Amino acid sequence: VWHEEYLWHDSSGSAGPLGRGEPDVEPGDFGDAPDARRRLHSLLAVSGLLEHLKLLTPRRAQTQELLRFHTREYLELIERLSKEGGGSAGPNAHFGARGYDIARLAVGGAITAVDAVLDDAVDNAYALIRPAGHHAMSDSGYGSCLFANAALAALHAKEARGVERAAILDWDVHFGNGTQTAFWTDPSVLTVSIHQADWSPRREGNIDDVGAGPGRGANINAPLPPGTGSGGYLALMKRVIVPAIRSHEPHLIFVCCGLDANAMDPFGRMMLTSETFRAMTRQMLNLAAETCRGRLVFVHEGGYAPVYVPFCGLAVIEELSGGRTTVEDPFLARYAHPAYDELQPGQEAIIRVLEGRLGKPSSLK
Ligand SMILES: [Zn+2]
Repeated sequence: VWHEEYLWHDSSGSAGPLGRGEPDVEPGDFGDAPDARRRLHSLLAVSGLLEHLKLLTPRRAQTQELLRFHTREYLELIERLSKEGGGSAGPNAHFGARGYDIARLAVGGAITAVDAVLDDAVDNAYALIRPAGHHAMSDSGYGSCLFANAALAALHAKEARGVERAAILDWDVHFGNGTQTAFWTDPSVLTVSIHQADWSPRREGNIDDVGAGPGRGANINAPLPPGTGSGGYLALMKRVIVPAIRSHEPHLIFVCCGLDANAMDPFGRMMLTSETFRAMTRQMLNLAAETCRGRLVFVHEGGYAPVYVPFCGLAVIEELSGGRTTVEDPFLARYAHPAYDELQPGQEAIIRVLEGRLGKPSSLK
């Protein structure tokens, strides 16, 4: 899923770094600039992969689809500010003119991906959308996110398409607080977030936050220490994430695919390479084949290193497509470092805690 308008979303406002007041350096887009996604799309084109993919054209999500999670007051605020030329949806969530329409197109892109997968029009889907969505709350934006793209796509799958159980894995380096909130008491959608511990939003995404009421046990947070490389991520995936999603028996699986856990990201401190993203995508493909006839929807989230996001995204989409281009990741030799890729004791400790809970939600405190 792709649309040129995704590049028009203006996340910069007219302010300084991260939207804080008068700039005291040269003004620029220090948040979620369009460059990373544009360059990923460019690499898909010049690598030749794009001609082997089926391009899905998104529609704008309708008001009643947005109301499945967001409040009417919040939608009216964004619509009004958008007509006035832009504004702020919440902390670090600026948007410009047409922001409301573009954010609806992002939600619609995730919904379009769901419909295409459920209708067997494609084998799986990657929604390369903007703005991102996993931080968006019902009544506020946060951290470059306006509307909850993936959560709303899962609600569409449930309420409009009759999907009984779904799972959402969020491997963006930041905590998927909005997605967690959307399904906090809902046992039908398993939400899983792998993120840098106590990073963004601060003090959230704790390992003991497991859902509430009927949703207890259907939320998993895996906060990893900064510096975690592929050893920590792949062990966590294999020992915790894959078995947890498998036992949920989902009919549809989402991946909130932030690419900001890569080693070059300015807003994350992890050490992943394109090959880690490729391996994690392979794990999810195998899991989807086993549990839900391969029904897998990737929804793009963050990723702020314009130089490296294209190679990480290409690896993911190559793997999803089952093909391989001749493009080689020029940064792989620099960042795939055996010492950084080893599973470390602090990472192992997190994995052990989560591993001990598998299959016994009733033992949770
Ligand atoms: Zn992020």
